[in-house]
Amino acid sequence: MTPEGKIEAYLKRRVEQTHGQIRKLAWLGRRGAPDRMIWWKGPWGPLLAFVEVKAPNGKATTLQKREHARMRAAGFNVYVVASEEAVEAFLTEMLVSPQ
Ligand SMILES: [Mg+2]
Repeated sequence: MTPEGKIEAYLKRRVEQTHGQIRKLAWLGRRGAPDRMIWWKGPWGPLLAFVEVKAPNGKATTLQKREHARMRAAGFNVYVVASEEAVEAFLTEMLVSPQ
């Protein structure tokens, strides 16, 4: 398994352990989509996030950063995770201190 694949598998396992749903994602006819769409049934409505997974120390490309910025400007939660620690920080932000 690639280094990115390992983090992706960790993310999937942790989302499922927290009773979330995780789906692979791609835009049709456009590059830059985050790797995964993730959601939970929250107490006041859906908790939704988009996650780009990178190999350790990897960074989003310029194109991905641009797409993330567009999505964040519209109010979406967009995260880039490149370690298991970053996956845990993402889960904490989404589930312990949701916006
Ligand atoms: Mg990726």
